[in-house]
Amino acid sequence: MVRAAAAAMTVLLVVIAAGNARAQGELFNPVRIAGAATSDPSKIIDLTYSFDASTIYWPTEGGFEHKFELFGIQPGGYFYSSARFAAAEHGGTHMDAPLHFNRNGMSVDQVPMSYFVGPAVVIDFSARSLNYPDATMTVEDIHAYERTHGEVPSGAIVVGRSGWGRFWPDKKHYLGSDKPGAVAHLHFPGFSPEAVKFLLTERNVMALAIDTASLDPGNSRDFPVHRMWLGANRVGFENLANADKLPFSGATIFCIPMKIDKGTGAPARIFAVLP
Ligand SMILES: [Zn+2]
Repeated sequence: MVRAAAAAMTVLLVVIAAGNARAQGELFNPVRIAGAATSDPSKIIDLTYSFDASTIYWPTEGGFEHKFELFGIQPGGYFYSSARFAAAEHGGTHMDAPLHFNRNGMSVDQVPMSYFVGPAVVIDFSARSLNYPDATMTVEDIHAYERTHGEVPSGAIVVGRSGWGRFWPDKKHYLGSDKPGAVAHLHFPGFSPEAVKFLLTERNVMALAIDTASLDPGNSRDFPVHRMWLGANRVGFENLANADKLPFSGATIFCIPMKIDKGTGAPARIFAVLP
């Protein structure tokens, strides 16, 4: 059973990774990635928070609901359980589809699966956000990264690492406020518009990911990063878990969002395979 699951995983990873024509070279060899993942489970990092009653949603939304309808021995003498869940699209670990801020952008079901996999580029600005929740990832952060790790590769998934995962699921610290509807009092790090413009125009980046609730910082009122990035028909991954476990380069990120027809976003299972 374990071997069958591993084989299925290998096929899945190879099929998905091979479909990404934009990524090239040994850095992104799907056979090597799938082999690493299935032969050594410790090479797979789960970048997803569990969905439960403590999952953090935008202050204008309710939380994640999950309720068992049946749980126990049935009249036929066998055990059976099933439940219902309900949730907003944008909460917990999830994907933003372009349609979220772009009327003509792709909805979740329309995003090609090649957008869901790519080499991880982890740009860390946690030293600056440590004492300043309004910190943003800057163009200089990208330049500093490239001086050490080389140019951001084509097809990359750029992770803005603010260190904010240490606050999850403490809503007050993670969002800056735990009051329902308190969008005017949010404080957490995000991407700067200048950095995102650079990644959009100077590098061929597949997706942006961040370990906070939003690509834009919490104090943003007009969401320029969302408008620019999703406006260019790209996708974003938010509330990334375990970002501190990712190496600066060499890992491959996979994002598997729930395929919601006309979805503006969707809960996602996101994971990385280490080199
Ligand atoms: Zn979102």
